[in-house]
This record gives sequence, C-alpha cells and structure tokens, in this order.
Amino acid sequence: SSFPFHCRPVVHGFSRGSKQLSIPTANFPEQVVDNLPADISTVIYYDWASVGSGDVHKMVVSIGWNPYYKNTKKSMETHIMHTFKEDFYGEILNVAIVGYLRLENNFDSLESLISAIQGDTEEAKKLLDLPEHLKIKEDNFFQVSK
Ligand code: ADP
Ligand code: MG
Repeated sequence: SSFPFHCRPVVHGFSRGSKQLSIPTANFPEQVVDNLPADISTVIYYDWASVGSGDVHKMVVSIGWNPYYKNTKKSMETHIMHTFKEDFYGEILNVAIVGYLRLENNFDSLESLISAIQGDTEEAKKLLDLPEHLKIKEDNFFQVSK
C-alpha cells in the first residue's frame, strides 16, 4: 500500500459543511481508502502535507467510519493547518503520515466533535515541532513534488 506517503487528487466529500465549521476536510479518493491496510482504520494521525508544489504544512488526518455521521463507507479526511485562498479540488495532495494521535470516538454532540478536532490540531502542532518530526518536512518526497 501507499502508507505512509500519499499523493493523490482531492475529491469532493460528503458536503456536510465541514468548511462552515471552520474545519474543512479535503477527501482522498475511495480507492486510496480501500487500499489502506485494514489495521490502520478508525484513527487520527498527524502529518505533513502540501498541495501540488506548494509549501509543506501541518495537518491532521482521520481515517475511519465517521461514527458521528453514521457513514457506511470508510473515509480519509485531511485538515491542513493553513488558510488557503482557494479550494483545491482536483489538485494533488501530498501527505506524509508522521504519527498516531488517538482512536476515533463516537461523539454525542457536534460541539464535542469540534472540540476534539481542535484538541487534535493543537496536539499535532506541538508534536510536529519535535526535531525528529520537523526533519520529515524536508523529506525528498516533498522536494520531488515541487
Ligand atoms: P467536502 O465535503 O467537499 O470535503 P469540506 O467542507 O470538507 O467539503 O471542504 C473541503 C475542501 O475545502 C477541500 O477539498 C479543499 O478544496 C478546501 N480547503 C480549503 N482549505 C482547506 C484546509 N485548510 N484543509 C483542507 N481542505 C481545505
Ligand atoms: Mg470534507
């Protein structure tokens, strides 16, 4: 499989208004999700990511069934910690998965889901600043994408 490096086009998600919650999540195509090893389901990871040949940013990715929304299909959704001027549907998203944050939980309210995601991004920001993780940002993988 392509774990832990991925570069795939961004596809349309479920349009359930993630952006309206200030947490846009770029979705990977279904076949990427289907090809992930079965044992890396339902988890939140922290990563480095770039769009096309753009700069490398911190990111969180959730792979799972999105229990809050009762999805029947697994999805891989990525929130990049950067404010983009425009949407980037169809562009190549380059992702280096760095480490594991937590298992995906079921949330009893939208508020608890949002605060969990905000907690994840805060923790991911700190972890990615560790020297061993910072150096992945300079990985050949991202240079080749330029
Ligand atoms: P969808 O249901 O189509 O995934 P979202 O509301 O989750 O819609 O928004 C995701 C889209 O927003 C991405 O596909 C991307 O084009 C855009 N986007 C803009 N900024 C970001 C960001 N910081 N992280 C992820 N996606 C972003
Ligand atoms: Mg989305």
